Amino acid sequence: MKSVALLHASQLVTLAGPKRSRIGAEMSELAIIRDGGLLVRDGKIDIVGPSKEIAKQAKDAEIVDACGRVVLPGFVDAHTHLVFAGNRLGDFERRSRGETYEQIAKTGGGIWSTVEKTRAASDVDLLAQAKRRANWFLKCGTTTIEAKSGYGLTTEDELKILRVMRSLNDDSETTKPVIRESRIATEERVGIGTRQGGAVALEIVPTFLGAHAIPKNMSASEYVDLVINEMLPRVASEKLAEFCDIFCERGYFDIEQSRKILTAAKKLGLKLRMHVDQLANSGGAKLAAELGATTADHLEKTDEQGIAAMKTANVQPVLVPGSVYALGSTCYPRAREMIQAGLAVVLATDFNPGSSPTPSMPMVLSLASTQMKMSPAETVTASTINAAYSLNRGDKIGSLEPGKVANFAIFDCEDFRELAYWFGFPQTHAVYVGGERLA
Ligand SMILES: [Zn+2]
Repeated sequence: MKSVALLHASQLVTLAGPKRSRIGAEMSELAIIRDGGLLVRDGKIDIVGPSKEIAKQAKDAEIVDACGRVVLPGFVDAHTHLVFAGNRLGDFERRSRGETYEQIAKTGGGIWSTVEKTRAASDVDLLAQAKRRANWFLKCGTTTIEAKSGYGLTTEDELKILRVMRSLNDDSETTKPVIRESRIATEERVGIGTRQGGAVALEIVPTFLGAHAIPKNMSASEYVDLVINEMLPRVASEKLAEFCDIFCERGYFDIEQSRKILTAAKKLGLKLRMHVDQLANSGGAKLAAELGATTADHLEKTDEQGIAAMKTANVQPVLVPGSVYALGSTCYPRAREMIQAGLAVVLATDFNPGSSPTPSMPMVLSLASTQMKMSPAETVTASTINAAYSLNRGDKIGSLEPGKVANFAIFDCEDFRELAYWFGFPQTHAVYVGGERLA
């Protein structure tokens, strides 16, 4: 594989530092190299430094001149619901007229409408839809995402969704997308990030979220049993997920049911992530601490006790301001208190058709700065190195350091703070995964 020498980044935002997630004041330290560059060999970062030094060692490498643009590690989006069928335009329109999420869910909208469409979709169709969306992430400068199942809610449909994720990662999989006649051009559907054989360049970390909602035809306890006795053993034995997640919230899965499901998942070797305290402070953050979850996500209603519990157990908070914004709420999580308490804060899109239809990490950075009072530097740390550690990949991605995978994005601006400052349009100039240019 050829070598690549990237030169003349106005700011090479390396995030070099301790080999762990960053807390407190460390979140503001980006280890920026001005007029920086890096040398890529065999898809990995070999040398990082001033352009002058990199140029000296470039030898036969292909030269990529960033021409004074900003270069960052590819964003790592640690909370998405990538695989689903259709959209929720009807819900969106009803919300725009003033109806609440709960009202819409009671009358045919909400998660359930996406479950019905996803069950009806074939794996081939789901894969084609997921590929199209995977390219949206790449176009925003994101190179790794976590993705959750949860729109199937039967054993077969949950497995179908997780297998689609596996196909996205693995080009040896037999399920190939069949691009059907569409108003959207074929190139747009398959897109920039598709590799030979059909896999996408975006790395996908799979999470099993069978406990996303209780299906209409079952009681909560029947469904909890199904998740524990049938779904989890299949997911674990087929190695379809690295994490298990749950929607721990009133009307979905309470603390006791959540403890039961997650304890079973842990016994099978899965690590834990949790949707908690989004609608009410129901003690979800504390449960995440008790179970030693890797992350507790949402946390819009979490109080200081929940924050203290997460600190004691080293649980990483994953904050998703895109869903607060898209639901028209103003109740953002207490990011400043979490940083002050020493939590290794992560930012993510929560990409999903109902409450957060955005794949854009720059948009999330903007929301985090304007609505949650995180500094631009803290938002970058939260969406790269801290997110990578929350996915167990801090040793491979999330910063630009020798030995790491050469995943980086070049943005059409001179200062990294411009990413969150100019909002609502893409500033991506080029995206590299494993040293190969995609976009
Ligand atoms: Zn979510």
